[in-house]
Amino acid sequence: MQLSSLMDRFNEPETLKMAKLGRKLKAKGIDITDLSLGEPDFDTPQHIKDAAKKAIDDNYSHYTPVAGYTDLREAICTKLFRDNGLRYATDEIVVSTGAKQCIANLVLATVDQGDEVIIPTPYWVTYSEIVRLAGGTVKFLNTDFDSGWKVKPEQLEAAITPKTKLFMFSSPCNPTGAIYSHDELSALVAVFKKHPDVIIMSDEIYEHINYGGKHESIAAFPDMKERVVVINGLSKGFAMTGWRLGYLAGPKEIAKACDKLQGQFTSATSSITQRAAIAALLGDLKPSLSMVETFRQRRDLIMRLIAEIPGIKCHTPDGAFYIFPNVESFLNKKTPAGKLINNTNDLSMYLLNEAHVSTVSGLAFGQPKCIRLSFATSNEKIETAMKKIKKALEALSG
Ligand code: PLP
Repeated sequence: MQLSSLMDRFNEPETLKMAKLGRKLKAKGIDITDLSLGEPDFDTPQHIKDAAKKAIDDNYSHYTPVAGYTDLREAICTKLFRDNGLRYATDEIVVSTGAKQCIANLVLATVDQGDEVIIPTPYWVTYSEIVRLAGGTVKFLNTDFDSGWKVKPEQLEAAITPKTKLFMFSSPCNPTGAIYSHDELSALVAVFKKHPDVIIMSDEIYEHINYGGKHESIAAFPDMKERVVVINGLSKGFAMTGWRLGYLAGPKEIAKACDKLQGQFTSATSSITQRAAIAALLGDLKPSLSMVETFRQRRDLIMRLIAEIPGIKCHTPDGAFYIFPNVESFLNKKTPAGKLINNTNDLSMYLLNEAHVSTVSGLAFGQPKCIRLSFATSNEKIETAMKKIKKALEALSG
């Protein structure tokens, strides 16, 4: 079977691949502890589920406008003003089947063959692949442990060329949990001001999962709203990964283009999810806040346990629910079976097969010295997994 050349241009998400491998081992009866997936283990809050049930009974069963119901887009505008001080009109909002589709819409709507897209590493797996799918050229901007995994303004300045179309980043960041402070964002804004044609994608899907100060959007800085596209959604902050709803807020022209693309690909996301989203965005935020409190306790637990493993360096994440430890001291060591650990892919596979813990190699996020561990799971599972990881790492030699 000859598939299209498009299929060779991009890769399957590594995060989903690891989850698939973990499930395969589980099906064989092996007790796998999964620290690979990026989703809250909580149930969706009751008031949101009730809104969905009511929507079914009220017969919200028809096609909706491609960009989402108007009252949902109004609710999103209300949220963006309430939480971020951003004033948008409903025709600047497009609701999609997850934030992932918003990102795909944005890239396909703005990036042409040969356009450069700057992506700081480590980055969320999908960014680079969508750019490649669109025919754009990915330009990685490497950050490191010492910079707290954040881009410095001089680095950004040096990376921008006349071909730069888009800059894509997340804060809070998946996979590092790093959050850009007001001053750090301000320094990047000063660089962007010198390059007015660069569009900025600000992925704020982990907005609510913030252990420090208040979330800040780069769109809220003076004169930035006209060129920033904010990506957000319900998956992480409301424990609604399976419901599939994300939204994009940005300049009208871009929103219109995304609406046009989506009209051919999928049309709108589910009508029932859209009704539930209004309840999520405008309703009681206490259940979300209580999830964040639990994530904070788990973060503290996993940080305590990782500190007990010699040879690992790890920042305490300020947001999201991942730690991204530097494990380079375990590379080039041998497993008890005599296999060489060449890279973090090998290390991640070793941890899966020997410790029965599923993690994601940093290579998937453009960082070859780290692995990603999700702490969106119970204390008990975190304790079991970390004990097994410690034992497996101690068994490496050489
Ligand atoms: N952006 C980031 C940084 C993510 O980590 C994820 C999901 O893992 C998404 C976007 C996509 O979220 P959604 O479930 O809304 O498609």
